[in-house]
Amino acid sequence: MKANKNFYKIEQNYLFAEVAERTAKYSHEHPEAEIIKMGIGDVTLPLCEAVTDAMHKAVSEMGVRETFKGYGEYRGYDFLCESICGYYKGFGVDLETEEVFVSEGAKTDLGNILDLFDSDNTVLVTDPVYPVYVDTNILAGRKIVYADATEGNDFLPMPDYAVDADIIYLCSPNNPTGAAYTRAQLKEWVDYALAKKAVILLDSAYEAFITDPDVPHTAYEVEDAKKCVIEICSLSKTAGFTGTRCGYTIVPKELHFDENLNKLWLRRQSTKFNGVSYIVQCGANAVFTPKGQKGVRENIAYYQENAKIMMTALDECGIKYFGGKNSPYIWLRCPGGLGSWEFFDKLLEEANVVGTPGEGFGKNGKGYIRLTSFSTHENTEEAMRRLKKMLGK
Ligand SMILES: *Cc1c(COP(=O)(O)O)cnc(C)c1O
Repeated sequence: MKANKNFYKIEQNYLFAEVAERTAKYSHEHPEAEIIKMGIGDVTLPLCEAVTDAMHKAVSEMGVRETFKGYGEYRGYDFLCESICGYYKGFGVDLETEEVFVSEGAKTDLGNILDLFDSDNTVLVTDPVYPVYVDTNILAGRKIVYADATEGNDFLPMPDYAVDADIIYLCSPNNPTGAAYTRAQLKEWVDYALAKKAVILLDSAYEAFITDPDVPHTAYEVEDAKKCVIEICSLSKTAGFTGTRCGYTIVPKELHFDENLNKLWLRRQSTKFNGVSYIVQCGANAVFTPKGQKGVRENIAYYQENAKIMMTALDECGIKYFGGKNSPYIWLRCPGGLGSWEFFDKLLEEANVVGTPGEGFGKNGKGYIRLTSFSTHENTEEAMRRLKKMLGK
């Protein structure tokens, strides 16, 4: 045998490993320092009661002969697919249950979906970028081209018809920049994709954080999007499922260039996947009930309050930033013209606050740092107090 040597081409884990290493070293040398971590992209609030109640009930059902469940549908249980369709209906979008595929999370499907495409395809990603899009395609040996996301375009690159692409990754609201496309901007991407006969893979992990009415909650609010967009969604950030694991992917039946991708994806899933646990799907289903929606909205509002605390402090410091409004991420330009790692070190040493250096997400991230709102109010306030003190504000 010969191993896949493409593994040597990915720079995987360098960023978070380096952040952890520098933090651990500082902590070891300064054991008294109370370090506040605002770098990690993981939620902190627990699952809401509607979800845990539903999962407790499902566990009990699994222990009784009459209600025990074996293998489920490859696509996911009808009850959950119907609830997801109902959620989309709330945005004025009609989906058939056969267009919904329940997954164990977005990252899994972002990698797996590539089974549908020829390795000759050219992939378009933005820079800075969520590293999963790049690494999964490097492993498959695909050519990757980059669209620059910079302050010049508010970190929202628009299509360039001089560039040819077959597979386009968009993440809106964006990780790491927090920028989000409006309906009109997304329509331009849809038009470009149709002109190039390309598919858009839209990562909607942060959909639930949208507050701007011009930003669509789903690409299918945009005309013709069903002809070219696969939407990859997750309950991780929406409902705190990072450790529970559940998401869903929408593959419209109208998405048909040379093959019907909905049929192909069902075939792929039935070949390599045996579904998500019944217990988890019951928990996921509870997210879409009125009680579940109330619970998850409360948690999201808590994080949004943190984002507000951060934005107010950054305004007071005169620091330029992006995101925060439709996203749990704040992407700020390092003050004083410092580089990402220089400011990371300064923030760690002088404020005992940990961020994520922007250049870890691509060359255009140089000079930026990402902070997250997935913390407590107390820690967020304290971190901002220290930042202001550090900058003499
Ligand atoms: C957190 C995150 C996800 C969610 O991944 P899961 O596998 O569902 O936990 C997807 N995309 C982006 C950009 C993320 O930041």
